Amino acid sequence: MHSHSGQFCPGHAKDQLEDVIKHAITLGYTTMGLTEHMPRTALEDLYPEELDEPEASLAALAPRHAAYLKEALRLQALYAPQISLLIGFEGEWMRPAYESLIGELAADPAIDYFIGSLHHVNGVPIDYDKEYYARAMASAETALPRGEDGEVSDVEPREEKMYERYYDQQYEMLVALRPRIVGHFDLIRLMSADPGRDVRRWRGVWERIERNLAFVASYGGWLECNSSALRKGLAEPYPCRLIAEVTTISEFDISSNLLSTTPFAVLGVLHYCPVKASKLL
Ligand SMILES: [Zn+2]
Ligand SMILES: [Zn+2]
Repeated sequence: MHSHSGQFCPGHAKDQLEDVIKHAITLGYTTMGLTEHMPRTALEDLYPEELDEPEASLAALAPRHAAYLKEALRLQALYAPQISLLIGFEGEWMRPAYESLIGELAADPAIDYFIGSLHHVNGVPIDYDKEYYARAMASAETALPRGEDGEVSDVEPREEKMYERYYDQQYEMLVALRPRIVGHFDLIRLMSADPGRDVRRWRGVWERIERNLAFVASYGGWLECNSSALRKGLAEPYPCRLIAEVTTISEFDISSNLLSTTPFAVLGVLHYCPVKASKLL
């Protein structure tokens, strides 16, 4: 339900889309979702590898999405006897202004579904590298007490603040888009100083997690179980065990009792990682 190819996501995936599908068939897949990243529309949203010729990089994104849909429809028909291909895209919530674009993309008759994902805090990538992660953290810490040098030194409160911001922006995305599938729910852990920490000790963070889970349950959304976290060195996939358990405990009760009446379906391993395509997210 969540896959990328090097053909249409050249920055961080490998292989032609058709080769990925053929490999999935050899592995015995009978259904697969295609979800290349949506096109971005602002220069500030480009990644470092796209900055040599930023205008050209940006101008290439929308035509690439159109080419992806055309190729996906061709492959869907061609391989229909062997595999059921769903055509989707990964919607990126960089800022609320992307709501209308995601809506327009989702309205295309070729599209079966989209994944709602958050890869940014305050518009800064959280999963690209440590430098961007530090910038995202700095963008979220304005309310923290500072030392005489004006710096916030302890990483714990800095990360706590950033986690809160991440789950608030994720909530904005959920309310605006109601995505049928929520991508890598706790991606914020990837570059954390302690990705395995029990976040229940951060009351504000945990309340936000519970709020977001309840909202997804309220409209019947699904969380994906995304194994890219394991490939990148984390001990648990997205979502981590703690969050996955919340979504599957039937007596879990928040004020509206949504989770007890609408249990989540936590999907199986959704990130398709063929041998050669070892760098997908
Ligand atoms: Zn992805
Ligand atoms: Zn993603």
